[in-house]
Amino acid sequence: MMSTLPTVGTILYLYSMCYVDATSQLMCQCTGMAMDDLKGKIREKAIEHGFKLCRITAPQLDKRHIQGLQNWLDADMQADMNWMAEEVRLQRRKQPESMLSDVQSIITVAMPYTPPAYSLDEACHAEGQGVISAYAHGDDYHDLMKKRLKAFAADLDLMLGKRDQRVFVDTAPVLEHALAEASGLGWQGKHTLTIHRDMGSWFLLGEIFTTANIEVDEAAINHCGSCSACINICPTGAIVAPYVVDARLCISYLTIEYDGFIPHHLRTLMGNRIYGCDDCQMVCPWNSHASQVTLRLHDQNEWNDPLKPRGENHLPDLASLLHLDDDGFRKLFRKSPIKRSKRAGLLRNVCIAMGNSGNTLFVDDLITVLADDEILIRGHAAWALGRLSDTENYHRIGIELSYCSQREEDSEALDEMNVTIEYLRSKYDYT
Ligand code: SF4
Ligand code: SF4
Repeated sequence: MMSTLPTVGTILYLYSMCYVDATSQLMCQCTGMAMDDLKGKIREKAIEHGFKLCRITAPQLDKRHIQGLQNWLDADMQADMNWMAEEVRLQRRKQPESMLSDVQSIITVAMPYTPPAYSLDEACHAEGQGVISAYAHGDDYHDLMKKRLKAFAADLDLMLGKRDQRVFVDTAPVLEHALAEASGLGWQGKHTLTIHRDMGSWFLLGEIFTTANIEVDEAAINHCGSCSACINICPTGAIVAPYVVDARLCISYLTIEYDGFIPHHLRTLMGNRIYGCDDCQMVCPWNSHASQVTLRLHDQNEWNDPLKPRGENHLPDLASLLHLDDDGFRKLFRKSPIKRSKRAGLLRNVCIAMGNSGNTLFVDDLITVLADDEILIRGHAAWALGRLSDTENYHRIGIELSYCSQREEDSEALDEMNVTIEYLRSKYDYT
C-alpha cells in the first residue's frame, strides 16, 4: 500500500513555488491566488473542456514505477514493441522532466467513455459475433482528446500567464498510469489500468506538462486489497503478477498492436475478441457501479459520450466483417481507432473468432478468403478451417486447402495451410 503522506521532496518542491500569506494561506507565485482557489479554477476549466477528472503532480516518477518499467523490459514483456526499450525513449519515460525544459507541473485529466452495454458472459457467447473493446466503439479518442487538451492549455495560459506547455495523449513516452496515480486521479489496479472510486476504469488519460508552478495533489490510495478478479479472469494469463501484464500474452496487444501470425496456443484462448479485450475491466468490482450509473444516464439520454459509440461496433457480425474489402474497411473505420489494426489485422482476428466459434456455417466464408491478398488473412483462415472441420466438411476443406497451397507463395501462409492439411489427414484419415 502506498503512503498518503507527502514526501520530503514533495514538500520542498511545493514550497519552492508558493508562498504563505498573512492569513497562512498557501499562495501561487504565478497568479497571486490562493492555491486552493487556483486549483478549483483549473478543475472547473477542465470540466468545461470535457474532462471529468483533473489533478496535478510533480514531473518526477516514484522509484517503484521506474523499477517496475525496467523489470518489465528486462523480462522482454514488451513483445515486439521494441521502441519501448530504445534507450533515449526509455530514459524519457523514466524521467517525465526530460519531456519539457523547465517543466514544473503535470496536469492529468480523464475523459470517460461508455462502458460495454453487455455482460462478459453475453459477449463471450454472442453467436456469430465478435467483441470490440468499449473504448473503440466510437470515434478515435486521440484526435478529440488532443484538441481538447490544446484548448484547455490555451485557457491555462490566460489563467496562469503564458507558459511553455506540451500535451500528451498515449503516443509519447509518458508513463501515464503512474502519473495519474501520483496525481491522485486514480490508483493503478492489478490489471495496470487506472481506477477511480466512482468512475471505475472506463476513461482515457491525457496530460499537460507545464512550466507553471501549481501545487501538487496527494497521490491516490490503492483500493485493490485482496481482490484478484482481473488476474483470475484473464483468458491468456497475461497478468503474470499483480500490476504486471505480459504484452506477449495480452489479447489487447495481440489484436491491436501485433501485426504478425498469432501463436496457435493463444488463438484458441482469444475466443471471439476481435479488437482489444475488456475482460479484466469488466470483472473489476470498481466498475460494476460505475457501469450501471453511466448506462442508466445513457438510457435516459443524459450521457453525452463525445466518442459517439456506434451500433455496428456493438458485438458486430463476424461474416460481414470478413467480407470487407479495402474500401469497405476504410469507409467503415475512417474515424475509428480500429483503423490502427488495418484490414489485415482485423480480418486475421475475425478468422480466429470464427475458428473458435464451432459454427461450421463459417466454412464457406473462410474458404473465400483463402485467396485474399493478405497473407495474414489466408494463413489464419486456413487455421480456422481446421478448427471447424468435421466428418461432413473435412474433404471439401482439404481439397480447397490443397488447391490454394499449390499457389501459395508466402512461406508462413503456406505453413499454416500445410499444418491444417496434415491435421485433417491425421484426424480423418484423409489423403
Ligand atoms: S486485456 Fe484481456 S488479455 Fe489483456 S490483461 Fe486484460 S483480460 Fe488479460
Ligand atoms: S479486479 Fe480487483 S485486483 Fe483487479 S484491478 Fe479491480 S479491484 Fe484491483
